[in-house]
Amino acid sequence: MTCLTMPAASGGAGVRTTDEVTIALRITRAHGPPVPVFPQCAAHTDMKHDRDFDPNYGSAVELMPGLRRLTARNPGPFTFLGTNTYLLGTSRLAVVDPGPADEAHVENILKAASGAPIEAIVVSHTHVDHSPAARRLRDKTGAQIVGCGVHRAARALMENEINPLDASGDKEYTPDRQLREGDVFSAAGISLHAVETPGHTANHLCFALGGEDVLLSADHVMGWSTSIVAPPDGSMRDYMASIDKLLDRREQIYLPGHGGVINDALSHVRDLKRHRLGREAAVLRELAAAPLTIAQIVASLYADVDPALHRAAGLSVFAHLEDLAERGLVAASPALALNATFRLRSS
Ligand SMILES: [Zn+2]
Ligand SMILES: [Zn+2]
Repeated sequence: MTCLTMPAASGGAGVRTTDEVTIALRITRAHGPPVPVFPQCAAHTDMKHDRDFDPNYGSAVELMPGLRRLTARNPGPFTFLGTNTYLLGTSRLAVVDPGPADEAHVENILKAASGAPIEAIVVSHTHVDHSPAARRLRDKTGAQIVGCGVHRAARALMENEINPLDASGDKEYTPDRQLREGDVFSAAGISLHAVETPGHTANHLCFALGGEDVLLSADHVMGWSTSIVAPPDGSMRDYMASIDKLLDRREQIYLPGHGGVINDALSHVRDLKRHRLGREAAVLRELAAAPLTIAQIVASLYADVDPALHRAAGLSVFAHLEDLAERGLVAASPALALNATFRLRSS
């Protein structure tokens, strides 16, 4: 979350633009109650975000032959209208990101399989909206869990630092087989190529679909909003490197962990990169005038945003500052921490 999207007025996926921040106040869907939209930086004026998405709760939607999407009913500020579970294959299946610990969703996965054996459960990263159902599905099907490694932060906690993201990590997840960069996993007649994409979490994987122009991008790249990148679980430096990694690849169709299909994906990734660099430049501009705390930077950069969201904004600013400090552009005193004072380093 480099910037903030706030709940917008009811009556559709409407957005209104303030000076820099576009505030989407609330999404109202015909099928359910309004869904608050999180503080991720959604629609800044320099980014287009696609919030036109029907989750079609309870039923799998075919996106292409042998590839279906089933959205869990866990809408929320961080999950948009719910977590996307992907079902790969036809007579045999691999299930990618089975979702939260929600028995109804697990039952819907089994219903969508309609008797076809589930051969593998594939997990992109260990956020509680993606991986907990893997264990339930394994218990019911005997399928192995393959994918990312166990949950871990991008760096060790600093002295007296409390991890503000602790509750979002699934610490009980353990894969039967961990995939690493370049590993190819085959199941249900389909091959998945693991692409390590740390940043949103340290263990995040995307999966390229063998023989197709398709990347399962999970929470690394989404169309409805930018991804949350917040220390210590996330790392802006890693995130930007993982963005560059995708720009070196050829896939043009992304299937994200939340929201709809991203077509022309490389153009979207280029916009994301430009957007993040824009936020970084804004932080540097703030510091050019005087040393500042994160709270002061947030108060200036997010002046139009509900103060209730400033804590989330602070984590995003912290991610940028941590990256800038590692690159020697910014110094923190007394130490690199959320409550530090930051200043530009003289060259
Ligand atoms: Zn996530
Ligand atoms: Zn997610």
